[in-house]
Amino acid sequence: MRHRAVVWRDLLSTSMESIVMSAPLLPEHISHRIAAIYEEIEKQYDVVAKALDFSCTGCPDNCCDSYFLHHTYTEWAYLWQGMAALPAEKKQQFVRRSQEYVQQSQEALARGERPQIMCPLNDDGLCGLYKHRLLICRLHGVPSSMTRPDGQQLLFPGCFRCQEITGAGEDVPRMDRTKIFQQVVQIEMEWLGVKRNVLPKVKMTIAEMIIKGPSQFKHCQV
Ligand code: SF4
Ligand code: SF4
Repeated sequence: MRHRAVVWRDLLSTSMESIVMSAPLLPEHISHRIAAIYEEIEKQYDVVAKALDFSCTGCPDNCCDSYFLHHTYTEWAYLWQGMAALPAEKKQQFVRRSQEYVQQSQEALARGERPQIMCPLNDDGLCGLYKHRLLICRLHGVPSSMTRPDGQQLLFPGCFRCQEITGAGEDVPRMDRTKIFQQVVQIEMEWLGVKRNVLPKVKMTIAEMIIKGPSQFKHCQV
């Protein structure tokens, strides 16, 4: 924990110019493949949502304050591809909010609490980087399942509001995350190549990804 605090203090002191001026490093063919997976998720999500007569319309909550960690260099870079296309002022606003988010989340974690802080990209209830939002943002809501490599099946009940419809029962329409995750892992492996064996594991919030700038793995020595 102490080590993390030092790391994030260093990141928070990084000059904003150096962050916002950096260019994303995601190759075009990888970018297209991630976009295609995201599109497929939206289609599958809509099928399940329709079967359950479920939507976010009128929800009293906003799950963008959920504390999620993300795990791939690919999604990190794709998020930054969206950031890079924003006007400079907007980008700087998101960076500033991310700095506040990281500060507050570190304080909550130090108190032993799970942070519940609005995502720095959320603008008045709407996602400010909708086309570039991450996998977990896209999957959250409807019930889903996933079969792990060891064969064990995991079931996810969906958000609280969806559970009001399903009663958190097991025999309900659900998205299968297995193929989606396999495809993302495959892309990550292809993109990183042999570097994946030496690079640090990604385990970051969106705010941390924004503060740290575009993924810089090409600068790592292998
Ligand atoms: S996913 Fe669920 S909790 Fe989140 S906004 Fe939609 S209905 Fe509300
Ligand atoms: S990236 Fe967008 S959808 Fe995901 S938590 Fe942030 S505001 Fe919400």
